[in-house]
Order: sequence, then structure tokens, then C-alpha cells
Amino acid sequence: MRKQIAAANWKMNLTYQQGEQLLDDILAANIELKDNQEVIFGVPFPYLTMAEGKVKAKNYHVSAQNCYNQKSGAYTGEVSVEMLKSIGVKHCIIGHSERREYFGESNLMLSEKLDLLLGGGLTPIFCCGEPLSIREAGTQNEYVEKQLEESLFHLSADDLKKIIIAYEPIWAIGTGKTATTEQAQEIHAYLRSVLAKKYGQEVADEISILYGGSVKATNAKELFSCADVDGGLVGGASLVAADFVEIIKGLN
Ligand code: PEP
Repeated sequence: MRKQIAAANWKMNLTYQQGEQLLDDILAANIELKDNQEVIFGVPFPYLTMAEGKVKAKNYHVSAQNCYNQKSGAYTGEVSVEMLKSIGVKHCIIGHSERREYFGESNLMLSEKLDLLLGGGLTPIFCCGEPLSIREAGTQNEYVEKQLEESLFHLSADDLKKIIIAYEPIWAIGTGKTATTEQAQEIHAYLRSVLAKKYGQEVADEISILYGGSVKATNAKELFSCADVDGGLVGGASLVAADFVEIIKGLN
């Protein structure tokens, strides 16, 4: 059975102390997860060890928000998969639309990051999603399919199964505008069909596809109730303990 996942993406927010407090407040809610549920906190690099120390008692996980597409070397300011692995990090978000837009990350670059992450035994949380102009033109399926094809389709079925996908329409990220449950279900089902076409239905059915884009305490449960939506990647609402607690409780 595929996992239902609530993943937080703190982005470049919170001081170390605020991050500690937020985790303490969320952990204090003492939510018991079912076997098929997972909670992951995507925190800034300097907070990974602190966050891991706090959440491991609850069997929650931490995630980096990025890694570099080279193994090591003269890449000042970058962080490698090996470095993440050496501090016990097991997840890494890649391909967030903010990284694609502000840091020029291409589908090819992401395919290289995927190989390094999988080679290091980390779970990639691979983000994809279309801008507003593409949604308005009605070509979102083709757009996102190309992102999957160019970044993921060189992988073996065994490796593909290790990935978490986050579909995040850019027009819904941080805008307060959420995709409707119909829009989310439709494109998630499409993405799963694209995976099934290439890797077979059994493989496609094992992959968690999260929705991201203004998930809130008030809409999480409804979004997560869609057959092909396996939880959420959450930005703004993951910075408020009470909201993220409700979002975790919204998992199936
Ligand atoms: C995100 O950045 O991954 C995200 C979905 O942000 P928000 O929830 O704030 O829209």
C-alpha cells in the first residue's frame, strides 16, 4: 500500500530557535500515525540535525530542500548528497518550482540529482507542476508529462518506486489559490497513468503523489480524500503548528 504523506517545506523561513519551537509544538500534539502514514519536515540545511534529533522519537523524518548535482568538489556554497547522508538525512526535495525559476534548474539537472540521491540511498521528493499560462492554455498534462519523462524515465522500475512525487501547480503555490479537488484528482490520475504507461500499473500504484499549492488546515482532508492524492507538500501552513497538526490529521 502506498504511503500517505504530510511533508512540510519551511523554505527559507524561521530562525533556529523558532524552528525548535515549531517542532516542539507539533510534537506536543502527539499524533499517532497509522502504518501507511508518514510525516516529513523539509527544513533549512543548518537545522537538519536539530530537527532529526527532535522528530526521530515520533518516527517522523526530516528532509533537505535541495542538493547539488555533482558528487563533491569546487562548488562553493553547495551541499552534496554524501554530506546529507553523513548526517543521517534520508529525504531530499528536488525540483521545487522556486529552484527551477530562481536557480535555473532544468529537467536534466534534476535527473542527475535523482541519480545521486538514489545512489546514496536517499528518497527524493521530486516536484513538478505547471505555471498559470500553461494551465490557462489547457496543456498542463503534456507539460508535466515532459517533466517526468526528462527527469525520471531513465530510472529502473525499482528506483522509480523509491521516489515521492509532489505535483505543485505554480499558480497555487503561496497564492492562497488551491486547485479544486477535481483539478487535483484529474492531473494526479493522469500522472499515475503516465507512470503506468512506462512502468506498468503495479509500479505506478506504489508511488505516492503529493499535492502542493496552498494546502491549508481547512482543505487538506478534502484534497487528501481524492483517490490519487496521497498527501501534501505544504509551505505556508507548515509554519503554523496548529495548522500543520490539522493537515497531518487530514491524512487517510
Ligand atoms: C510549496 O512551497 O511547496 C508550497 C506548496 O507552498 P504553499 O503551501 O505555501 O502554497
